[in-house]
Amino acid sequence: MKKPALTALFLCLLLGTALAGSIWHISCENPACNYKIDHYQGRGKATPQEYKYHGYCLQCRQFCTVAVPWTDRQKLIALGEQGKIPCPKCQKYLKEVDEDAIATFPCPKCGQKTLKKSPVSGRFD
Ligand SMILES: [Zn+2]
Ligand SMILES: [Zn+2]
Repeated sequence: MKKPALTALFLCLLLGTALAGSIWHISCENPACNYKIDHYQGRGKATPQEYKYHGYCLQCRQFCTVAVPWTDRQKLIALGEQGKIPCPKCQKYLKEVDEDAIATFPCPKCGQKTLKKSPVSGRFD
């Protein structure tokens, strides 16, 4: 009896993530800089018809957002898994913003590799 319940919970979590989108805070640990940005992925409250991918462009040295219609999200997710989502500004592939990678990105403001990502619960707009 335990297994179906767990499966259902797991599906619920998956679905919840997919529907709600996820959000983290990114902040620069350089005290002189204080750069802060929200990192998010999925669908927002204000724009439920869109799927947003938020990545980092090493060429532009900044975070970029790519938004597609919600119905096209699978295409974007597949491209994201291959690391082939082009930056909207320079067309270079965006880097996925994960826990390990974040430390290798130069801060968009001060240029130092002092960015840190912390999880937040909730939905983005
Ligand atoms: Zn770029
Ligand atoms: Zn900084």
